Amino acid sequence: MSRKPIFAANWKMNKGPSETEDFVKSFLSKLQGQTFPCEMVIAPPFVSLPKLADLLHNSANIQIGAQNCSQFDSGAYTGEVSVRMLREVFVHYVIIGHSERRAIYGESDEVINAKIKKARETNLKPVFCIGETLEEREAGKLESVLRTQITGGLAGVPDKDVLETVLAYEPVWAIGTGVTATSQQAQEAHAFVRSVLADLYGADVASKVRIQYGGSVKPNNAAELMACPDIDGALIGGAALDPQGFLEIVRNGMTTASVE
Ligand code: PEP
Repeated sequence: MSRKPIFAANWKMNKGPSETEDFVKSFLSKLQGQTFPCEMVIAPPFVSLPKLADLLHNSANIQIGAQNCSQFDSGAYTGEVSVRMLREVFVHYVIIGHSERRAIYGESDEVINAKIKKARETNLKPVFCIGETLEEREAGKLESVLRTQITGGLAGVPDKDVLETVLAYEPVWAIGTGVTATSQQAQEAHAFVRSVLADLYGADVASKVRIQYGGSVKPNNAAELMACPDIDGALIGGAALDPQGFLEIVRNGMTTASVE
């Protein structure tokens, strides 16, 4: 089963509107003339979303992502942004359950589940992040942690919505550390994630869901990771702050990716 590769830049709390403009102008000029049979997503901070939408107006190949959304519709939720507001500024993807949201803001599997369901109400595509800490991996809990996160996050999410969801396996120990999982470790985890999806939704649905790898993806490891049969793309933090870095990850990754 072939799945369209997807490379997403998670800028975290970096790049306001003017730096967003600098990045996009540079990225589009470097990209000129090149097309890749994959999706690219840029997820800037909320305040940069309208600027990104303006700049990408004619670039159907690059989608706009948000880094979070509220699980509520509207009202007294200071500091939050609703899925309808995100749709209004042309957001297509929303990162949900990033390990920084889980660890720093205490997001539970229940909250993440509510956000995934809320995102789907407006047709936003969740990038649903899962992953174990080093302590959990060393204690032999990798599979139980992933299973709990997946079953909790997707509880009550029907087939049609999981097919529009991208999972992102991001071992917490590899995020922003410069330590990447080996391609063998990543492939093993991805195959396990797909087997949990098969338990929940059946083998056919599981074979169609895209699973990204995230954690210190760089231009020099993208091809090896993308060669793995269950790795369908990358969620990239640090290296995607640089237009050249993001482009090289896409270009190198696509040399080994299997495409439709
Ligand atoms: C991330 O934040 O999702 C991430 C993978 O970051 P980095 O690429 O910097 O490890």
